Amino acid sequence: MGKLTGKVAVVTGAAMGNGEGIARVLAKHGAYVALWDVAEKVFETARSIEAQGYGAAAFQVDVRMLEDCQSVAKAVIAEKGKIDILCNNAGVVRLAHFLDMNDELRDLQFDVNLIGVWNCTKAVLPNMKKNKYGKIVIMSSVTGPMVADEGETAYATTKAALLGFTKSLAREVAKDGITVNAICPGYILTPMVEYTARESNPSDPDAVIRGIAAGIPMGRLGSILEIGELAAFLASDESSYITGAQIVIDGGSTLPETKSVGV
Ligand code: NAD
Repeated sequence: MGKLTGKVAVVTGAAMGNGEGIARVLAKHGAYVALWDVAEKVFETARSIEAQGYGAAAFQVDVRMLEDCQSVAKAVIAEKGKIDILCNNAGVVRLAHFLDMNDELRDLQFDVNLIGVWNCTKAVLPNMKKNKYGKIVIMSSVTGPMVADEGETAYATTKAALLGFTKSLAREVAKDGITVNAICPGYILTPMVEYTARESNPSDPDAVIRGIAAGIPMGRLGSILEIGELAAFLASDESSYITGAQIVIDGGSTLPETKSVGV
């Protein structure tokens, strides 16, 4: 028996990157996983999880569309009877200095990262409240709440705002047996980070990745499966007394106070 055996989970942005890692690890711990993603690749990812003998299904959905989120939530509940776990992971980043950030790029990040979480939560929460059980995991970041680099004003704004959402919702649904917690990753090697590396240095993105690793006390980026294990813990009853929390997973990247002090 896995720690999530019998649980039904929804993971957004599950076609690739952190969402794929979360879906794979939740499935490994016994959950049936509904993978929601706007990208067609979601079907391939779900098939590869099923091929390992786990329960999974793909749903192509844009988290910006409330009605679409509601109809896929309805489909999951019709098929599996309930939703126990919601991992709100889908997110996008577009780098630009503040004065160069046009409204379209700003709104893309606000809409996917914030309204998307809002919509998916709205679609799933009524079933959790009815069942008096739920585990909601929100993908924030160290970017925004703790640190930031140039070009990240829109992205950092969304990730910091998600902590306000996490705490307020956690307060509101504690009486319904539902926990709400945020994960704050540092750098995890995903297609998003590969995009950021290409934007930062189109001629040598690998140098950017090596530079990131060099600044992390553990000397490497995190893996999507390490994110998955933290999400699985927060999605399981092992974390039964944790709610409204923000948990940093960054290999120590936010620890250094200076670059020069030390023996
Ligand atoms: P990624 O770009 O590798 O994957 C994101 C996934 O979200 C993709 O499958 C994409 O198709 C999907 N998606 C995008 N827009 C969507 C929409 N409108 N509706 C449904 N799905 C949509 O990114 P990632 O690095 O895996 O990031 C996943 C989450 O982790 C994001 O919320 C991101 O902000 C967060 N995060 C990532 C890192 C990191 O270092 N990779 C660090 C901190 C936080």
